[in-house]
Amino acid sequence: MRLMRRSLLPLGFAVFAGSRPALADAPVALEGAEVFDGERRIGRATILVADGVIGAIGPSGSVAVPAGARRIDLAGRAVVPGLISAHSHVGNSAGAETGGRFYTRENVLAQLRQFAAYGVTTVTALGLGPAAFFDIREEVRRGGTDGADLLGAGMGVGVPDGTPPAGPMNLNDSQVARPGTPEEAREAIRAMARRRVDIVKLWVDDLNGTVPMMRPEIILAATEEAHAHRLRVAAHIHDLEQARIVVRSGVDIVAHGIRDKPVDAALVAAMRERNTWYIPTIQINEANYIYADRPELLADPFFGRALNAGLRAQFGDPEWRRSALAGAASSREEVAVNQRNLKALHAAGVRIGFGTDSGATAIRIPGFAEHRELELMVEAGLTPEQALRCATGQSAELLGLEDRGLLRQGRRADLLVLDADPQADIRNIHRIRAVWQRGREVSGALG
Ligand SMILES: [Zn+2]
Repeated sequence: MRLMRRSLLPLGFAVFAGSRPALADAPVALEGAEVFDGERRIGRATILVADGVIGAIGPSGSVAVPAGARRIDLAGRAVVPGLISAHSHVGNSAGAETGGRFYTRENVLAQLRQFAAYGVTTVTALGLGPAAFFDIREEVRRGGTDGADLLGAGMGVGVPDGTPPAGPMNLNDSQVARPGTPEEAREAIRAMARRRVDIVKLWVDDLNGTVPMMRPEIILAATEEAHAHRLRVAAHIHDLEQARIVVRSGVDIVAHGIRDKPVDAALVAAMRERNTWYIPTIQINEANYIYADRPELLADPFFGRALNAGLRAQFGDPEWRRSALAGAASSREEVAVNQRNLKALHAAGVRIGFGTDSGATAIRIPGFAEHRELELMVEAGLTPEQALRCATGQSAELLGLEDRGLLRQGRRADLLVLDADPQADIRNIHRIRAVWQRGREVSGALG
């Protein structure tokens, strides 16, 4: 797997721009919060943070706090790992508009700051990235920017005149490779591997029979080539039959929920046998109607931080709202099917990751989408702990990241301090007191 632990810059070496506080030289002890470590609840604990990573973690009283450490009393609060999105996009929207022309450094960095403010400390841009993606990723990795860490697929592999649809999404040719033959698919993957993409993305969807679907030999060639470069492959799908095809082709990650039919025993068996990951992205369809359903959100400070002027105007427009509600029935049904399938696959032991498709279009709102996704996963029948596990430890595992996702010694100190315990009510994930990234507080309360 190409995703390796990234070493931290030596203390005193990095220069941080923007509003980040100076590096704290002294270790920090976060004391007394109820801690979920990304896998399990460990109760009231002490987390010792030094040099950007967790130096020690354990039940209160079990961790020796060195003299000189800064002690922060978090009694009555909760701590969970930073959320990890394995399916988002960046730079593809601005205001209420969607399209590749918005892919600028400034816009991408602003979106990464928004993700981090909502506690999403790692974001995977699953395709639609032009060449600029690689420079921005490098800049983020060096630690010179504020905001979430950025991984990605670069362009991703789509279909000539097919998905992702260039017209409706205002995409340009620099954002998606569209190979016509297996050899062109292999060459596209080789080019991506040379740029050291973190993951490979394929779009396998005929949009309900309206566009050509990626041919099986292309899926196989791209997947085989990616695996030869030790890259995992995530496939966009919508339907059960598409999921069957990609799982059979050896794709590692089904990157959307199945939304046309209930999953069946054959698919469950195949996914279990091949250890295929599944990212439900329930919010992708809810985004089509929730703002119309709940106009009171516009006055909610928690939501307000994620709203730009263009979206605020759109959601406040009664005509837009009428139209969104009038067309909402199929989206509601897809959410319901997606939730039932998540519940069935989770119960059957299929490995579940976390993502929302946030950023692919303007109404899939970075940060807010991830909070809604957790709520929708719980509504589907997962416990808050199970949903949080998907969004932290499991999402890291899906991405092959061994340096984060769990609050364990030696891993990155990426974490959320919450005013109430999300295991009691997943909506408490909204109650962010602080976001810590690589051992430093980077963002405070929302709203
Ligand atoms: Zn996507």
